[in-house]
Formats: sequence, structure tokens, C-alpha cells
Amino acid sequence: MSDFSQFGLPAQLNTALERMKYTAPTPIQLQAIPLALKGHDILGSAQTGTGKTAAFGIPLVAKILNNPRGNAIVLTPTRELASQVMEVITQLLGQRSFVQAVLLIGGDSMHKQTAQLRMRPRIIVGTPGRINDHLERGNLILHDTNFLVLDETDRMLDMGFGIQIDKIVKFLPAARQTLMFSATLPPEIVKMSAKYLKNPERIAVGAVNAPIVRIQQEIIHVSDSGKYDELNKQINARSNGSIIVFVKTKRGADRLCERLNKQGNKTDTIHGDLHQRKREKVIQGFRDMKFRILVATDIAARGLDIPHIEHVINYDLPQCPEDYIHRIGRTARNGSEGSAVCFISPDDGLKWRAIHRLLNPNEAPPHMPRPAGGEGKPRNYGQKKTFGGNGKKQGGHTGGTGKPSGGNKRFGRFPKRSSAPKAAA
Ligand code: AMP
Repeated sequence: MSDFSQFGLPAQLNTALERMKYTAPTPIQLQAIPLALKGHDILGSAQTGTGKTAAFGIPLVAKILNNPRGNAIVLTPTRELASQVMEVITQLLGQRSFVQAVLLIGGDSMHKQTAQLRMRPRIIVGTPGRINDHLERGNLILHDTNFLVLDETDRMLDMGFGIQIDKIVKFLPAARQTLMFSATLPPEIVKMSAKYLKNPERIAVGAVNAPIVRIQQEIIHVSDSGKYDELNKQINARSNGSIIVFVKTKRGADRLCERLNKQGNKTDTIHGDLHQRKREKVIQGFRDMKFRILVATDIAARGLDIPHIEHVINYDLPQCPEDYIHRIGRTARNGSEGSAVCFISPDDGLKWRAIHRLLNPNEAPPHMPRPAGGEGKPRNYGQKKTFGGNGKKQGGHTGGTGKPSGGNKRFGRFPKRSSAPKAAA
């Protein structure tokens, strides 16, 4: 009997867990599953890669299997994350389940989704925009949907889905159970939770606002013109594991991918201009190790769960500081280790300080070399950022000096380097 037996789950679910080789619950699952099974609302903060999907997926499937009435809906910020959540839920339901689950995401055929909705699925997973489309067209009826999961809520708000979520929630019955998960718990999220949750149980795994400690983080000061050469050095220094390279723009992603391919590096790219089918193909190719390097914009920063990503290279800094945490969370999945390198060019001072403040809220900002022509205020990086980085400590993280020249390679202490590191294990 697996450790999951302590939860008294339906036999079908226990069999599925065995097939998935989930033998013992992860810490977030240990906290969330019993509370959710008892019917509590939950406000959960968990870092990526902690088993958060099954933490809500297991009680969701248990409720659906145990009750002939009542449906469930899961909202996620991105299509990719929705697809991954759907995959976990499908696995949890098992191979011969009669329960129908439908994925409602943009970029996919409206016609196909409408036909699937006619079968009255009991589980809906999707992104807020497409779900609202179906609600407005009368394709989707939610008055029996008494189990709501908001996944990566901070990201959904960040992407401007607040109003869309409000609209969807209005279609749901007031007597429902709501589970809300967020990587960070800034005041906006806590306020939002008061609107949607009833007496929620707060659960947390790891330090809020802190990336996973198993990730070895480094920063490299480099000029804009020197970035490409530095990237090559970094790639060559990493003999094992897949690499994800984050860039700022879609065009930049295409250009960098082309350049790397020309030099014989097996590379592909993912960004918002690609059709859904193409995006899925790229992710599948990366998962199947058909190429080693994925150049991505932040669209891929969340949810991508590929165990063999060992290295994250931040070629450009992200558009908002929280994305840094999500980017580096693509590595060190489920107990493994990983490395994250961050290129900082002379104009990146403000951006890097905002990231540093988010990671080390109680510490002095790092000294940054001044840019030659003065620094404009980049989007989302001022004192009035949307979330986080408010100077208040929100979790139990104790960082180090936070200075780029610190000696410890762990989180919060970034060794400064100007040359390639030795190959990661
Ligand atoms: P998540 O945080 O939901 O993205 O999960 C991260 C990874 O952990 C995924 O590859 C899951 O399949 C895996 N995982 C989640 N829960 C368990 C578990 N109890 N045992 C083993 N692997 C798990």
C-alpha cells in the first residue's frame, strides 16, 4: 500500500497513483489533500516543481469519483500549463474512466471544444479567456460546478485576467469549494482570496517568493554586444542536460535560435507568435530530446515541466521580476538539481535590483555598474510593481549577503563571474 493510502482515496485513484509511480505524497500534497478532502477552502503558496498539480488534482478527482453530482473547473494562466494540468488529471482518472474532462484553451478549435462540451464533461481545465468565450456563447454551464481551482493566481493577475476570473466566478454556485494556489502571496492575492475563499486554510511549502534552493544561481556582467559569445561559452561549458535560454522578444527568440542552429547547436524556439499546435510540437520535441536548447520568451516560463532541463540561461532579464522565479523554476524539478545563469548588461541595473529585492526583501540592493547613457524606467520595475518586491518579508527565506561577489553559490548569494563555469554535473 502506498503512503497515499492514508487519505482513503477511491480505489481507482490509488491504482492510478501506483501507475504514475507516485509512491509518497510530497509536502504540499501532505498538507493540501486531507484539508481539501474535508471540504476546506485552501490558499496555498508553493514553489514550482513541488507537486502542486497533484495536490489539487488528487482531491479534485477524488470528489468527482465519490460524488455522482458536482463538477470541477481549473483555471490556469497559460495554455501550456492548462495542458499539463489536464495531462495530470487524465492520468489520475486512469485509463478506463467514464469521467469526461475537457481542455478549453485559446488557439485550439472552438468547434471541437463546443462538441466536447455537449458531452457534459465533469472536469474543465482551461485559460480564462477561452472559458469566458464558451460561457458567453452558452456552450458552458457552470451551475453544478462546485469545485474551483485557481492555479498560479499571481500569474493570472499579472497577465490581466482579474476581470475574466471575476466573470467566471459569477457563473459558479456560491456553495462551492475553492482552492487557490500562487507562487507568491503579495497583498493583492491575499485580498483576492478574501473575495473568493471562505475561511481558507493557509498552506505553504518552502519560502514564499524564494526560488528553489537546489538551483545554483550565477550572474555574469556582460555588454550587450558580448552576450552571444558569452552564451556560446556557457553552452559549451555544459556537457549534460537540456538548456532553456530566456529572451525578451519574439523576434529576438527567432534570431537567436537561427544563429545557434547555424553554429550546429540543436535548437528550437517557443514564443507567443506560434500557433498552439506548433507550440505543442516544440514542447514535445524538447521533452523527447530531439533538440537540446530551447530559446523561449516568458510564455514558457511557467508550468513547463521537463525533468531533463538542467540549465536556465537568462539571456535577457524578464519583463517583471516575478518571472525570474518562474524561469529558474524550469530546472531542479521534483528534487533534482539545476543551474541558472543570468546575463546582466550595463542597462539592466534597475531590473536586476528589482529581482534582487524580490528575492532578498530585507537586504540592501546590490551595487550595479552605472549604464553609460542613464537608465530609463523599464516596465513593471519601478517601486510600484504590480506584485511582490514590496520590501516586506513574506516568507521564511533567509538570504545571504545578496551581493554579486558573495562566495556561496546558493540562493540569495550570487557569485560574480566573467568566464564560463565548469560543466554542471
Ligand atoms: P508540479 O509541481 O505539479 O509541476 O510537479 C512537479 C513534478 O513532480 C512533476 O513531474 C510530477 O509528476 C512530479 N510529482 C508530483 N507529485 C509526485 C509524487 N507524489 N511522487 C512523485 N512525483 C511526483
